[in-house]
Amino acid sequence: MKQISNIEILGGGPAGLYTAILARKLLPNVRVRVTEQNAEGATFGFGVVFSKEALEFLRQDDPETHQLLRPLMESWEDITLNLPSGSVTLDGVGFTAISRLKLIEVLKDRAVNLGVTIRFNKALKSLDELEADIVIGADGLHSLMRRTLETKFKPKIEYFNNHFAWFGANIPFDTLTQTFIETAKGALNAHHYRFSPTLSTFIVECDGQTFKSLGFDKMDENKSAATCTKLFKKSLQGADLITNNSIWRQFPKLWCESWVDGRNVLIGDAAHTSHFSIGSGTRLAMEDAIALVHALKDNDDIDEALTVYEKHRQPIASKIVGAANTSALWYEKFAEKMQLEPMDFAYDYLTRSGRMTDERLHRIAPKFAKNYKSFKVRDTDLFN
Ligand SMILES: Cc1cc2nc3c(=O)[nH]c(=O)nc-3n(C[C@H](O)[C@H](O)[C@H](O)COP(=O)(O)OP(=O)(O)OC[C@H]3O[C@@H](n4cnc5c(N)ncnc54)[C@H](O)[C@@H]3O)c2cc1C
Repeated sequence: MKQISNIEILGGGPAGLYTAILARKLLPNVRVRVTEQNAEGATFGFGVVFSKEALEFLRQDDPETHQLLRPLMESWEDITLNLPSGSVTLDGVGFTAISRLKLIEVLKDRAVNLGVTIRFNKALKSLDELEADIVIGADGLHSLMRRTLETKFKPKIEYFNNHFAWFGANIPFDTLTQTFIETAKGALNAHHYRFSPTLSTFIVECDGQTFKSLGFDKMDENKSAATCTKLFKKSLQGADLITNNSIWRQFPKLWCESWVDGRNVLIGDAAHTSHFSIGSGTRLAMEDAIALVHALKDNDDIDEALTVYEKHRQPIASKIVGAANTSALWYEKFAEKMQLEPMDFAYDYLTRSGRMTDERLHRIAPKFAKNYKSFKVRDTDLFN
């Protein structure tokens, strides 16, 4: 790619930093600068989870980053579903998880070592402050680039009905665990898994009525954390919930019709969101980065490269985002589904994104698939 001499990246999250790394590797003559509003070493959230093979995709383009991340990751096989009426294990699914902060630290150090300039503590107010051959909007959900060029990117944003708060917990859970509890004021779910030897992510979710009945709308984050600690006392086994801007929110369903406007390009959460229940947002963001930098490397003309990026990447991201949206809708009905037998609940949970066939179920959770089959036979026998 001869025409590019510099790239400006807005946002130093996973999408922005990974784009910077790959750009320096694959387009070594191009100057790359990242602008990030947060201070160095600050971010939102706790750990993020990926499927077992996720991050393997990094190995191909940047084995060094993959090698740096690997030892920082926790991994395990199973999902545990805890219901008031019993627990079910979904064996063999396979996950890895990492602290979001550590992920960003590794990406940042690697980018700097490859010659990327990073400006921290700089919240950009206008796109006019950036001048480059290509400006990449990797600035997340509240993207300045997307808002500035809204008529070009044509975003559609709605919010799922459930409310959630993202806490941490000072206890390492064995597996990815979904705990569903009943209270006099409604049902709640916690989505929890370890992301370091001592810490776990702990996301609490409930419908709007339960959210109000429990008074979360009037609590600050510390009071919310204390209330959730009490509600999930059994799962937390004496551990406390930790906050990091753990305000209650409704998850956004965002999709931009277009990701390119002239030399401005959107990637990651700035272009699309993916509900946390399928753990794909970070991976999607980094895969956008891979698609974009490869398109720039493989095409001599910048406009052509950006068109290739959008055309190639949108249908792939759209499939995952569709599955995430379907999964998010399942969570809006979890209170009803809690009336099911635990085994039926587990089957319903596993098949929630609409992408699970019986054959796939047998492949990813063989013991559960076998047990469920015998359970259904017994169940049917009772009525014959
Ligand atoms: C509760 C919850 C749980 C999640 N769990 C998972 C999970 O388990 N697995 C997973 O893969 N994904 C998960 N995600 C999704 C994941 O966090 C996002 O998809 C991912 O962070 C997207 O990366 P990004 O780089 O596009 O955006 P971000 O990570 O949002 O980064 C954008 C960056 O841009 C900066 N920025 C924004 N505006 C400006 C400005 N004007 N000037 C300068 N800097 C700016 C921000 O400070 C930020 O650092 C979860 C999300 C939530 C809400």
